[in-house]
Amino acid sequence: MRSTAHHADVIIIGAGIAGLSAAHLLTGAGLGVSVLEAAPRVGGRLATDEVDGFRLDRLGPLLCTSWPELTGTPGLGTPELREFAPGVLVHSEGRRHLTGDIRSARGALRAARTRSSAPWIHRAPRTPRALRGSAAPGAPAVSGAAGSAHGAYGHEPGAPGRGGGRGGVVTGAIDRARLGAALHRLALTPEARLLARPERLAAEALAGVGLPGRTVDGILRPLLAALLSDPALTTSSRSADLALRDYARGGLCVPAGGSAALPELLAAALPPDTVRTGVHVTAADITSVRTKEHGELGCRSLLLATGAGAAAELLPGLRVPSFRPVTVLHHTAPAAPPTGRSLVLDGDRSGPVAYTSVMSEVDPSRAPEGRALITSTVLGTPPPDLDRSVRAHLAALYGVATDGWELLAAHHDPEAVPAMEAPHDPRRPVRVLAGLYVCGDHRDTSTVQGALHSGRRAAEAILTDLAVPGAHEGSLPRAA
Ligand SMILES: Cc1cc2nc3c(=O)[nH]c(=O)nc-3n(C[C@H](O)[C@H](O)[C@H](O)COP(=O)(O)OP(=O)(O)OC[C@H]3O[C@@H](n4cnc5c(N)ncnc54)[C@H](O)[C@@H]3O)c2cc1C
Repeated sequence: MRSTAHHADVIIIGAGIAGLSAAHLLTGAGLGVSVLEAAPRVGGRLATDEVDGFRLDRLGPLLCTSWPELTGTPGLGTPELREFAPGVLVHSEGRRHLTGDIRSARGALRAARTRSSAPWIHRAPRTPRALRGSAAPGAPAVSGAAGSAHGAYGHEPGAPGRGGGRGGVVTGAIDRARLGAALHRLALTPEARLLARPERLAAEALAGVGLPGRTVDGILRPLLAALLSDPALTTSSRSADLALRDYARGGLCVPAGGSAALPELLAAALPPDTVRTGVHVTAADITSVRTKEHGELGCRSLLLATGAGAAAELLPGLRVPSFRPVTVLHHTAPAAPPTGRSLVLDGDRSGPVAYTSVMSEVDPSRAPEGRALITSTVLGTPPPDLDRSVRAHLAALYGVATDGWELLAAHHDPEAVPAMEAPHDPRRPVRVLAGLYVCGDHRDTSTVQGALHSGRRAAEAILTDLAVPGAHEGSLPRAA
């Protein structure tokens, strides 16, 4: 088992999270591995930029604490994760509704009984007086959760939006308890059973879940759109079930300090010189690759761990899925909007932002002391006047003026997430033939969990084909 500048047992093309997790398992089994990465840094799509003391992710920030690979990938150890508040904060008809913990009926009812412990529910928002008069058109002055002294979920009794009120889309305590019971059942359902269900559009399946339309439209639809990066919900209903199940089994979180922390942890745990950045592979076959910078390098096995498009360029014939475009914007504000660690969703789909949060509340290490960081995600094709329309929407969602906010960064990726349209196989084969393998989120679910899991599956296939002893030690099946 050897690795030199010009030869390795296994060459891995791409130092995204999938390639790095495979590299970790292969080097751990004693193989000589060379990871070739075209970019100057590791991590691929998991990139975090440092701007004026802020740590800004280029990607949407939604990971699930229940993902087995997040805590079970050896090279990651126990990554520091920062959790969002349980439940979500849905903005609908000019008001914000905190759902409380909707992962079980008991949780939903307890939240209703104790009322919310979030202090901002019961007091006026900390909007600077000077800004109050200048809220964007359509923004509630001080209405909704932040300004209301009534209602367990921040909406006034009898106001639109209270369970079954005047057609409001957000539900009351009983409906939320029913939603909690449904999510709890989903959390307990084995993956195999979910994957055996008929497959159709997620939007169609939602209509038949047996919950009131206001619960579906007000909570489930925007939550699923966020989890799947798919506002129209044309994703496979099975993938939607899996995503909701992961949500119901844990909570939403971000890696402390930025998403790049995950690939950096993996890369740091590899033997020195395993990863070579700034090396662009232009052609590949089973026993060698050609690079722009270093000519030809030889190997016994080759693993393509690039995104789907780059993999198909190197290996013509490989399926390329369609993609979900995602745009992430970071603003800084003079004062943090009063929503704590909640994930804020738009129940009305009244603007470009699908979800947003005060990231400096979720993970204080991402912003300098005393500065607020607001991270927002736009799904699909972004509007031409992106910052202006996002600010106007954020003013409505948070109920504060956003004129004084400063745009720190906006990052658009037209191929952010592979679409998981039906028929979607979340365990697409990683072994093309003996000696040639492919991994990445396009072979699994289109998430960090899927990318890590595909890397594990590819490493296990390589170890099996090379008859490396103890090939399956440390295997971690996806949670049953
Ligand atoms: C805007 C955005 C929002 C997202 N939101 C979420 C979210 O909320 N939750 C979630 O779980 N996931 C999200 N994702 C998806 C998540 O980032 C990916 O699923 C995951 O990072 C994919 O990892 P990967 O290793 O499969 O691929 P990548 O990260 O794409 O890594 C592939 C690597 O291969 C390298 N490469 C390509 N071609 C070559 C070549 N010829 N030679 C050498 N190197 C090459 C690339 O430079 C790259 O570093 C989002 C992604 C984006 C962009």
